[in-house]
Amino acid sequence: MNLTEQMPVILPGKTIGIIGGGQLGRMMALSAKQSGFKIAVLDPTPNSPCGQVADVEITAAYHDVNALERLAEISDVITFEFENIDADSLERIAEKAYIPQGTNILRITQDRILEKRAIEKSGARVAPYAEIYSQEDLEQAIDVIGYPSVLKTARGGYDGKGQLVLRSADDFSQAGGILGHGPCVLEKFIPFEKEISIIVTRKADGEFRVFPVVENIHVNNILHETIAPAGISELAQVEAIDMAYQLAVSLDLVGTLAIEMFLVSEDEIIINELAPRPHNSGHYSIEACMTSQFEQHIRAICNWPLGQTEMHMNAVMVNVLGEHVDGVIRGLIENPEWKVHFYGKEEVKIGRKMGHITILNPEPAEVLAELEETKIWKDKSIIK
Ligand code: AMP
Repeated sequence: MNLTEQMPVILPGKTIGIIGGGQLGRMMALSAKQSGFKIAVLDPTPNSPCGQVADVEITAAYHDVNALERLAEISDVITFEFENIDADSLERIAEKAYIPQGTNILRITQDRILEKRAIEKSGARVAPYAEIYSQEDLEQAIDVIGYPSVLKTARGGYDGKGQLVLRSADDFSQAGGILGHGPCVLEKFIPFEKEISIIVTRKADGEFRVFPVVENIHVNNILHETIAPAGISELAQVEAIDMAYQLAVSLDLVGTLAIEMFLVSEDEIIINELAPRPHNSGHYSIEACMTSQFEQHIRAICNWPLGQTEMHMNAVMVNVLGEHVDGVIRGLIENPEWKVHFYGKEEVKIGRKMGHITILNPEPAEVLAELEETKIWKDKSIIK
């Protein structure tokens, strides 16, 4: 096979198939449509955020091989907007479809045990941890790792779900609920200075770009605000970029990888988790960077040269959850500087990501104070 056959350039007019119809798929699709691509999406829910902007909507389960085959038939390239897709089902259509990201990255990132092993193999650090397969493993691990520590299910958890902080032996009795879900990891609780993330995009030919390192503020384990760029030392930035590069090479990455990290001290970073797709902490790039994370992802999977990622201006992104929608609708009239994104989700639920706002400003601290003053996000983020 020659190089061109291995890495076809997908041109405008061709169809990009997206597995997953959420907001990440929608924003990928909107970006791709700007460049003249057609979009086919597979999602179990009709009229999904991505389905609303796609040319073809296939309504079926993600692991439905017939539906995946249909997606493969009409798509010139296939990508995914989330990692909990059945890799075996996807592999079954690999002969008929061009899936440049492959399935290995899915297998790794949907399992915290495989993910941590892969991070360590790349030379990057994770929090001290133990693999837990039984109550005995947990008892032994707690002797080594100590309190406080965090017990996480290896598979299926997100936004803090499937996690338990163990602060003392008293919390031990609750661990059964988590252990019941299958293999777990026990991690040392890290009293981090900041949570930061970096998004890296790599192509099959090895071309590589990173977006600026950003700071993430979570409320109830859900991303609340992203500050771009992160206020961290030059040394920490270089370290984050180095880790991203090592990981991308070690994983033979094609497409986008978001890397969530803890800044432990001024110059010490450890990796918390990975997502093989555009990420909530990269939404600011739509307005703030020369190329958005969505455009970059599409470029990577279509074998276009990657775009520049420098920022036009500093930015703050704030998520709009169900409980914030009314306030934001009222607030947007008075705030022309808000770049308001809504994802078209019909059902408004507390804690559900309904949209986000990006605000460009040379002084992110001013924006954070202004957002605080609106009271829209105050206290209401508590999930009742
Ligand atoms: P995760 O699902 O692994 O991203 O965890 C959700 C959130 O829990 C993270 O964004 C952190 O705020 C917190 N967290 C997770 N693991 C740890 C840890 N080992 N130490 C301290 N905080 C953690």
